[in-house]
Amino acid sequence: MPNFKTLDDLGEVTGKVALVRVDLNLPMAEGRASDLTRVEMVKDTILELADKGAKVLLLAHFGRPNGARSSVLSTSMVQGDVERVLDREIMFIPEVSGPVVDQSIGILGNGDIGLLDNVRFWPGEEANDAAFAKSIAAHGDFYVNDAFSAAHRAHGSTEGLAHLLPAYAGRAMERELTALDAALGNPEAPVAAVVGGAKVSTKLAVLENLVGKVQHLIIGGGMANTFLAARGVDVGNSLCEHDLTDTANAIMDKADHAGCTVHLPYDVAVATEFAANPQSLRICNVHEVASYEMILDVGPLAAEALADVLKTCRTLVWNGPMGAFEIEPFDAATVALAKTAAALTQEGSLISVCGGGDTVAALAHAGVTDTVTYVSSAGGAFLEWMEGKTLPGVAALQG
Ligand code: ADP
Ligand code: MG
Repeated sequence: MPNFKTLDDLGEVTGKVALVRVDLNLPMAEGRASDLTRVEMVKDTILELADKGAKVLLLAHFGRPNGARSSVLSTSMVQGDVERVLDREIMFIPEVSGPVVDQSIGILGNGDIGLLDNVRFWPGEEANDAAFAKSIAAHGDFYVNDAFSAAHRAHGSTEGLAHLLPAYAGRAMERELTALDAALGNPEAPVAAVVGGAKVSTKLAVLENLVGKVQHLIIGGGMANTFLAARGVDVGNSLCEHDLTDTANAIMDKADHAGCTVHLPYDVAVATEFAANPQSLRICNVHEVASYEMILDVGPLAAEALADVLKTCRTLVWNGPMGAFEIEPFDAATVALAKTAAALTQEGSLISVCGGGDTVAALAHAGVTDTVTYVSSAGGAFLEWMEGKTLPGVAALQG
């Protein structure tokens, strides 16, 4: 287990000021938050600290103001959403340091919650300027980081503060780090990695890290086409990065040496157009794809064989859909594999940790969000972790 302090390590906090980094960078549509998952995630931490009598100051970024104030990028835009999810009133504080913050802390009672303004209004945040972080730290007794999704950034509120105050992982951060550790840090073998999605180029570092760590690498999605092409398969009109076939071969060689079996599809779903239930839909062997056809999903035989691979594994880490899951029936392999992973997880034979923007949507579409072990909504931070990188926000918590 990675060593970091959690809220369990906090002593008496009554009347103390907690600076809590959260992710309130909510997706917006027509001026309103379209999804409150990020607020739901940090609810436990905020309420636990408030209920223990701390004065809780929420610290977050919102959009990309590039170091200057912007009224439409104020965290006050999401104050109402936070209040609704927490079912508490919170005080908006239009600064992150200085006399206004002091006065606000004076007004807040024990157990009250304040929302500081967008920390990226100040250039010192993204520059990780020591003086800026100190000016914020001056107001707090301790720091809690509950924003794993921002932990790949070495910014003042994600990294700098952790060195200036006693630092703790919040409950969401703790859950995330525990799940990630179980999946790739100290996993139970055999481990399978599923990597899919559109392009190899966006996931080269992920693939290179995984081949040295897992026993089975299952490649699907558009990127499988590049690997098939590298093996001499004519993928027709499929999405394929022909300039990366040498790289794909190098990854397969590295896998061979590391004792990692690479699984590529041997049957596929193809069509001539990118449309739902097209007339041209056909299931065929990878060697039978016509020059005008596109591979849009892993075929049913390969999907079944992949499910059998998962049955022999104890751990699964998954990023990227197996096909163009947004259009039917090219969601079939993704849904089938997701259901197998969920069933094995429920039986207790598999730990399944999944993440990635489109992957989250694909797993929700398959209806398995609550039955796999963990679904990370962290996006960039999740991918960097899959690349084997040290995340500065996590490293800072580890002292
Ligand atoms: P994530 O966001 O989970 O990391 P990616 O962004 O890498 O995933 O990839 C998701 C996209 O890949 C989806 O939009 C999906 O339609 C596309 N995709 C998957 N398989 C194929 C394929 N065979 N051809 C074209 N696009 C594909
Ligand atoms: Mg994506």
